[in-house]
Amino acid sequence: MSRRVLILLGPPGAGKGTQASRLCAELGLPHVSTGDLFRAHRAQGTDLGRRAQEFMDSGRLVPDDLVLDMLFERVAQPDCVRGFLLDGFPRTLPQAEALEKRLPTGTAVRVLDLRVADAALLERLTGRRTCRQCGNIHHVQNSPPKIAGRCDRCGGELYTRSDDEAATVAKRLAVYREQTQPLQGWYARKGLLSEVDGERAPDEVFRSLRTAAAGMEAA
Ligand code: AMP
Repeated sequence: MSRRVLILLGPPGAGKGTQASRLCAELGLPHVSTGDLFRAHRAQGTDLGRRAQEFMDSGRLVPDDLVLDMLFERVAQPDCVRGFLLDGFPRTLPQAEALEKRLPTGTAVRVLDLRVADAALLERLTGRRTCRQCGNIHHVQNSPPKIAGRCDRCGGELYTRSDDEAATVAKRLAVYREQTQPLQGWYARKGLLSEVDGERAPDEVFRSLRTAAAGMEAA
């Protein structure tokens, strides 16, 4: 089987993380999230983690060179030989160009663009509570935990990611519209983009993403 790469595009809070986990389980692809990779570096106290921290906490993008080295090291691991799903990458045009150069010819690429309006994103992000232990995500209104402050899956402590605070969220959305949204047109012109309405129920969104991802088999 040739290599296939799925790219999940969409603003912060569009549901990329949740949908990416489901798609990966369904398709047997490793889930590569640059946000998760940075958070792991921070938790381990690496030099890269320290350098990324100030950008992440203020809602800005980490500079491309730091992201690219980390990403390419990850996708060079043996589990990515047959392909992978990218969540939160690329976020800038130079990142997309670097990825394109790096992928071997014959790689099937599909970009799934999750569309959600800003008002819904603000509500989703500021209510999000993440498990410190397993990364599971709850929401104060949409999926409250059974025990306040504790993760349903592992019992770990729930917290508000510092970049989910209201002011930082507004900044992250502005950064997305400015620096990442131009990738929609870039991938559309290459015939690689599928748009998916991300404001529907998660199961419906998942079905649409799965159908769009299946379309790449023929590519
Ligand atoms: P996420 O979990 O995808 O929302 O990422 C959290 C934060 O990590 C972002 O707000 C950025 O500061 C940083 N980050 C993650 N992925 C990238 C990327 N591809 N390029 C630049 N910064 C990134």
